[in-house]
Amino acid sequence: MKKKVTTHESGTDKAKIAIIGGGFAGVSAARVFDNQYSVTLIDKDSHFEWSPNIHELLSDVKTVDNLTLSYESLLSCSQHRFWQDEVSEVNPQTNTIKYQSGLSEDYDAIIICIGHKTEYYGVDGAKEHTIPFKRLDDVVALKQRLETILSENTAKATDTTISVVGGGFTGLEVLGELHRKYQSRPDVNLRLIEQQPALFNARYRDVGNSITELCATNGIDLYLNSTIEVVKEGEIRLNNNEVLKSDITIWTAGTSSQRLADSGMFISSSTGISTNEFLQARCSSGQSFEQVFIAGDLANTQSKQAKQAYHALNMGEMAARNCISSLENRSLERYQPQVELSLLSFGSLNTYALTPYGCASSPLLAAAKESVFQLQMANIGRGLPINDQVSSILQRNLASITKLALPQLRFFTPKNLLDKSNLFF
Ligand SMILES: Cc1cc2nc3c(=O)[nH]c(=O)nc-3n(C[C@H](O)[C@H](O)[C@H](O)COP(=O)(O)OP(=O)(O)OC[C@H]3O[C@@H](n4cnc5c(N)ncnc54)[C@H](O)[C@@H]3O)c2cc1C
Repeated sequence: MKKKVTTHESGTDKAKIAIIGGGFAGVSAARVFDNQYSVTLIDKDSHFEWSPNIHELLSDVKTVDNLTLSYESLLSCSQHRFWQDEVSEVNPQTNTIKYQSGLSEDYDAIIICIGHKTEYYGVDGAKEHTIPFKRLDDVVALKQRLETILSENTAKATDTTISVVGGGFTGLEVLGELHRKYQSRPDVNLRLIEQQPALFNARYRDVGNSITELCATNGIDLYLNSTIEVVKEGEIRLNNNEVLKSDITIWTAGTSSQRLADSGMFISSSTGISTNEFLQARCSSGQSFEQVFIAGDLANTQSKQAKQAYHALNMGEMAARNCISSLENRSLERYQPQVELSLLSFGSLNTYALTPYGCASSPLLAAAKESVFQLQMANIGRGLPINDQVSSILQRNLASITKLALPQLRFFTPKNLLDKSNLFF
C-alpha cells in the first residue's frame, strides 16, 4: 500500500524514520541511515543489551557492563535521536506511533523490530512462580533470588534445587552456566525439565545425546518427556502427578512476539508479523505497506529462519536499505537468510557448533563463541566516541581473559580435548 512521502522529495526537510526497538535489528538498521535522514531510535530501555551471552552473568564470567551499551552514547556521533518510551500503537496507514506516555508522532517510514517476550503457554502458576530468562533484568533478578535462597538454605543446612524448564538453546546454556558456577557445591542440585522425549530434534540428535551424557556424568537430573501441569511456590507438578521440590524454577520454555495495537491491519501471529520478500509488513488485505518494515525476531519472513541474533542483524540492515530505496523510488533487495550456524556453550563442560550440514563439539569452540561476542560487540560499538570504544573493548577483552580463558585452561588437557572433540554428521 503506497503512502505519499513529501518531506524527503522537497529537498528542504529530511524524511523522518522511526526505528522501534533497539535490539540487534534496530541498532543495525540505525547505522545504515546517514544524516540526510531524520532518524529516531525508540526503545523502552536506555541501553542495548547483548542477550546471547546473558547466561554468563550467572557464573560471573560477564558483568552487566560487558553486555550493555547506552543508546545515547551509541548515537552520539550521528545526528540520530534516541527516544526512551514504550510504543503502544502503530497505525501503518498513517505511519503514526503512539507512546505509552500519551505522546504520538508521525513518520515517513517505520522499521519495527521489538522482538519476542517470554511465553508461558497458560501453564498454571508459571508466570507467578518462575523466573523468566529473556532480558538482562531477568538474570539480575534471578541472581538476587539465588543468593537469598542459597544463604537461607545454607543457614538451615538444607539442599537447594534449581529447575530449568525447557531444553532448547537457552535452557541448556543456562543449565551449563549454573553447573559452571555451582559444580563444587554438593548442596546445589540442578535439574532440567523438557517435554520432548529427547533433547533436540532428529537433525541435532547427536548433540542432544552428547549433552544428555554430560548431564548423567555430572549429576544433573534430566526429566525428559515431562510436561509441567502446575507450578507453585517451591514445587512443580508434572502431568504424571509427580511433585518435585524446586527452590527456584527458571522458565526458558519458549517465546512469542511482542504485540503492538495496530487495528488488525498487520497479518500477525504468536511468532511475529508477516513480511513480503522485501521485509515490508503484509497487510491483512493481502498487499504490503510500502513504508513499514519488520526485522529481527518479530519478522515472519517467507524463509521462516530461526529467531537468532545474526539474522536480526542482517534483517535490520536490509530493512534500512530497502526503506531508503523505497523512499527514493528505487528497486528493493530480496531478503535471503544466511546459512544457520549456532554455537551452544554448555558451561565449562563443552561447546557445540550446529549447522544444517553437520555438528561439532569441542571445548576449543568456546573461544569461537567468545570471539563472535567480542567482534560483534565492538562492531555495534562503532557508533561510540573513540575513547569509549577503546575502553569498552579493553574492558570486555580483559574480562574474557581473566574470567573465561584462564579458568578454562585447566580443562584443556590433551585427553579432555580429544575426549570431547567430535564431528557429528
Ligand atoms: C539467553 C539467550 C541466548 C541466546 N543465544 C543466542 C545465540 O547464541 N546466537 C544467536 O544468534 N541468538 C541468540 N539468542 C537470540 C537473540 O538474542 C535474538 O534473536 C535477538 O535478540 C533478536 O534481536 P531483535 O532485534 O529482533 O530483538 P531484541 O534483541 O529482543 O530487541 C527488541 C528491543 O525492542 C525493545 N522493545 C520491545 N517492545 C517495545 C515497545 N513496545 N516499545 C519500545 N521498545 C520496545 C526492547 O526493549 C528491546 O531492546 C539468544 C537469546 C537469549 C534470550
